[in-house]
Amino acid sequence: MKVLVTGGCGYIGSHTVRALTAAGHHVVVLDSLVTGHRVALDERVPLIVGDLCDPKLLDDLFASEKFDAVVHFAAFIEVGESVTNPLKFYDNNVSNTINLLRAMQTHGVLKMVFSSTCAVFGTPDTMPLVETLPCNPASPYARAKYAVEWALEDSSTAWNLGYTALRYFNASGAASDGTIGEDHDPESHLIPIVLQVALGQREHVKIFGTDYDTPDGTCLRDYIHVEDLAAAHVAALEALEPGDKRVYNTGTGHGASVREIIDISRSVTGHPIPAIEAPRRPGDVPKLYADSSKIQRELGWSPEYTDLREIIASAWRWHESHPTGYNDKRK
Ligand code: UDP
Repeated sequence: MKVLVTGGCGYIGSHTVRALTAAGHHVVVLDSLVTGHRVALDERVPLIVGDLCDPKLLDDLFASEKFDAVVHFAAFIEVGESVTNPLKFYDNNVSNTINLLRAMQTHGVLKMVFSSTCAVFGTPDTMPLVETLPCNPASPYARAKYAVEWALEDSSTAWNLGYTALRYFNASGAASDGTIGEDHDPESHLIPIVLQVALGQREHVKIFGTDYDTPDGTCLRDYIHVEDLAAAHVAALEALEPGDKRVYNTGTGHGASVREIIDISRSVTGHPIPAIEAPRRPGDVPKLYADSSKIQRELGWSPEYTDLREIIASAWRWHESHPTGYNDKRK
């Protein structure tokens, strides 16, 4: 298939571009490079540097390239920032997605795989999370993602768009060959922060909250390897038909605690990784882990990386060999 990948220079996007290319798809990437990294992309993959806020660019692009499908990653991801600057998120993550959908409608492109998030569930009462649970997104980031899910559903009904929304759990790890990985600025995610301590770039990691109702008092998350997520996109794309309305949780089904992540990282890196107990981080939910049986049943996808040690080891290979990330944005 000929596929437009928006945000293909980002963390999950760049791994998915590789997986799509390896599966024989012809990929064109559109990325503003505001947060993405040009060097995360193979030089042979065509890159258009541009923004989804530009309808003329989109119209010209869809007119000149006959895309069969779009895989849409481009979005801001900082949950905390979304709380203080919600319109920035509604603008980029919702309005710009509407621009993209409008271009797809105009040019008859009827397949989209969309990056959604398990944060759409909010603070659920039951675990693991199944797709049918009610959604109650708490942050502007999560609400904007959920708003797009509605726009996709309504577009499917009105003009036969086929879509798959993948509700990601905690993407982690790096490419098995160590050449691409996670590089966010600022970094707020647990595993990269822990590994930055191991690299001597931070003195300690703060454990945000030790009094949660979980086995060791720290939050449980479902850490899914980024290459497994990439494979889920390929499977989703290849199964998608116009008019489909599909929503899948993509996680491993296992909830790991903050303390577990730190302990495994100590063992993987051989570094003591000092940790200090800190207050809860506003907005954190005690437990989030997936029931991914629907995507396993319907698309035959299941995660290859089921051992957290391997996930953290792959992240460590990347961070150790790229201590300042891609090094393309530092002043
Ligand atoms: N966390 C932590 N210290 C940090 C960063 C994260 O204790 O420096 C915790 C955070 O409170 C959450 C878990 O690690 O319980 C995963 O956080 P992350 O930001 O990686 O992903 P999220 O689940 O928030 O999307």
